[in-house]
This record gives sequence, C-alpha cells and structure tokens, in this order.
Amino acid sequence: MGNTIFTKIINREIPAAIVYETENVLAFKDINPQAPVHILIIPKTEIPTVRELSGSEHGALLGELIDAANVIAEQYGIAEDGFRLVMNCGKNGGQEVYHLHMHLLGGRSMQWPPG
Ligand code: 5GP
Repeated sequence: MGNTIFTKIINREIPAAIVYETENVLAFKDINPQAPVHILIIPKTEIPTVRELSGSEHGALLGELIDAANVIAEQYGIAEDGFRLVMNCGKNGGQEVYHLHMHLLGGRSMQWPPG
C-alpha cells in the first residue's frame, strides 16, 4: 500500500506539475484531467485511504487540504463559479492510488449523480 507513485512525486523522483506546496501538503495537476482544472491535493504523509482518517487525529491536516483547495481555486479563477472536491475511497469508490488525495475539479459544470 505504502510508497505509491505519489510518494515518488513528493520526493521529486518522478516529475509532476506542482501548483501548490506547504510543509504538509502538495498539489499537482492530474495526469489524466477530467475537467479544465483537475488538481490532486495530497498530504505529504502516507495515509492510504479516508478510512485511516479520524477527525481527532487528522482534523488539522484535513483543514490544510481544504485551505489548499480554496487557494488553488482562487489561483485558477474557478472559486466564484464553484468546483467539486472528491475523495475516492477503496474499490467501489474508484480509488486507484492508495495515497490519500482530494481531487479539485472545475472550469466546467459538473453532473450529478457521478458515474
Ligand atoms: P483515484 O482514482 O485514486 O481517486 O485518483 C488517482 C488519480 O491520480 C487519477 O485521476 C490519475 O489520473 C492520477 N494519476 C495517476 N498516476 C499519476 C501520475 O503519475 N501523475 C499524476 N500527476 N497523476 C497521476
């Protein structure tokens, strides 16, 4: 589970289009964008899925992920029109990379329900 492709991006072992970085958080463009703006926001620490999160232990970190989403949405000019934040969890959630990440999608109108 650990040491996914996202760890390699954090360690600069493989390239990514990084758009935001703090001590605890990294954000970069999704390699297969599903919207005009599609950014992945990740904690630098290795947490596989949402299931390993708890509000008591990770509340501050989750807040940092949301802060990143708001800053990046402003950067890309999509804040006012709105955007979507997605965290896929596990097989049925459609998770492919087992390093916690939040998708920031914007720049077009989203459909509901998702596929
Ligand atoms: P998940 O399906 O796990 O929620 O999302 C994983 C996302 O990571 C996918 O949208 C996929 O396109 C993206 N992704 C997978 N490998 C790489 C990579 O090497 N670089 C970048 N920038 N994105 C990746």
